[in-house]
Formats: sequence, C-alpha cells, structure tokens
Amino acid sequence: MMNFNTDDAVVQKIVYQKNNQILAYDVLRLDLIHKTISGNKFFKLKEPVKKAIEEKCNTIATFGGAFSNHIVATACYCNMNGLKSIGFIRGEENKKLNHTLLQALDFGMELHFLDRASYANKEAIKQQYPIPNCYWINEGGYSKDGAFGVMDIFKLFNNSYTKIICAMGTGTTMAGIIKATKPNQTVVGICVLKGYTNAEKDIRFLLNPDEQKKPFSIHHQYHFNGYAKHTPPLIDWMNSFYNQTQIPTDFVYTAKLFYGAEQLFLDQYFSQNDNVLIIHSGGLQGNKSLSANSLIF
Ligand SMILES: *Cc1c(COP(=O)(O)O)cnc(C)c1O
Repeated sequence: MMNFNTDDAVVQKIVYQKNNQILAYDVLRLDLIHKTISGNKFFKLKEPVKKAIEEKCNTIATFGGAFSNHIVATACYCNMNGLKSIGFIRGEENKKLNHTLLQALDFGMELHFLDRASYANKEAIKQQYPIPNCYWINEGGYSKDGAFGVMDIFKLFNNSYTKIICAMGTGTTMAGIIKATKPNQTVVGICVLKGYTNAEKDIRFLLNPDEQKKPFSIHHQYHFNGYAKHTPPLIDWMNSFYNQTQIPTDFVYTAKLFYGAEQLFLDQYFSQNDNVLIIHSGGLQGNKSLSANSLIF
C-alpha cells in the first residue's frame, strides 16, 4: 500500500500581537505534507483504504460537497493505490466545474451529481448505484476507522500541550485527537458548520466509553455564516494573519480555526499555564475557488 510521506509536518512557534496582547502558541503544519492532500485527510483515509484493500475491493465510493477536500483526497489516495474512485457530489452539476472537482477528475474519480433531496438519502443512493467490489466511505470520511487513523498525528510532535485546538467538520479529526490525548489535555474544536447541534453527540459516537469521559469543548460562533461561506472581513483577516505569522489559511476550515483561536486568546479563555497547539489541517487547495487577487499568498 502506498502512503504519504509526513516528514514535512513541522511544529512552528508563533508569536504575534493583537489588540495590545501578545499571542503565543505552536502550530502543527499538516498543510505542508502534500500539495493536494494536505492536512488531516490522509490520516482519515488510511484505515478505510487499508480495509478496502484487505476486503479485495477495487473501488471506493464516497460523498461530499463541491468544495470537499475529502473528495479530492479520496481521488488522489485511490489513484496512488490503484483503486477506482467514485464521488457522489451534493448539488446540481455546474457548467463550469470548480478547482476541487477538476482535481478529483484529474485523479480519475468518476463524479455523480445529485440534487440536495436525493443526496440526503445515502442508503437509496447505494441501492440505486450498485457498484461491484465497492467499499463505501461516509460523507466527509466520518467514521471510527477515520478517527483511529488520526491518532497517528501524535507521532509528529513532542506532546507537552495542555490545549489542542482543531477545526471541526464531521468531527472525525477531533475525535481522533481526543482519542490520542493524555489525561491533562483538553481538545478544543472550532466548528465550521452553522447550527450543528449534534456536534458533541457525533463526536462521542466515534469514541469508546473511556474516551467519552475525556473533556473537550466545541465552539460554534466562528463559522462566518456557515460551511464554505466567506465574508470580506474573513478574507481581510486571512491576509492580515498571513502578514503577521506567514501562515496561509483556507477559507473553509483553517481561517475559521485560527480566527476562532485568536478570539479565544483575546477573551482570556486560556490560562497563563496553558501550552497551546493549533493543528493546521491543510485544505489550501480550496482557496483556488476564490476570485483572483483576493489573497496575498
Ligand atoms: C476536512 C477538513 C477538516 C475537518 O475534518 P473533520 O474530520 O471532517 O472534522 C478540517 N480542516 C481541513 C482543512 C479539512 O479539509
């Protein structure tokens, strides 16, 4: 099985000033792993793809939105491993495919576009498209296997942190990080979906009973109008954050992550003794869907 080289995922120390406060934390740069499948996606996919190969499946099918990094990552990882990939995409097909979907096509993924009502019923889709020797991966890669693979992220850094902050979409990554934490550590999630009331429940479902006792918190006020939505202030913030830290962020996940973390620091959410790590989960390819010249990086 072909895997990714994750040696480039360095920890970077960040210190900058905002509103007369000094903010200091470490960033795990998972965005540096691979230019297309950066970040958390390889970790989420490795166990399901391993199982697919063990079960002698030659095709992987999955679900995602038009901006889904999970879709591109699945296409790329299947391509590396000689597997066929099929993506069921939420929403009607646009005449002009966006960068994310073009990349998925380049990696050989077969795309099927479904209107929102059909997309909602995953079981009906599986029956309507009986694919031989197919291993199905949930929308966005939500799964216990995915969370298990995410635990490997902890091999990449020297773990002395008290708070670990990550972005939350399906919660698979956050669940994997919770699974891997030691007793004195708390995971803090920044949710990028609007009105995700089942977020806590969906994370607990991926944890075993002992892990469910570990503390974690999810912050719901930094989604900027919802999943993959962006506002001019968010884009401005991404540029000024880059100016101050040299860290590029994507508008779907990590800009909201770092913005939310900054607000938590400014609100004195952390104590003096906290040692904070923020996990940069990648996703920078998504910025190619923004209009040209909106970002300085
Ligand atoms: C997919 C993704 C996430 C969210 O991961 P989940 O496991 O679905 O919560 C976070 N950051 C980036 C950059 C992503 O692409």
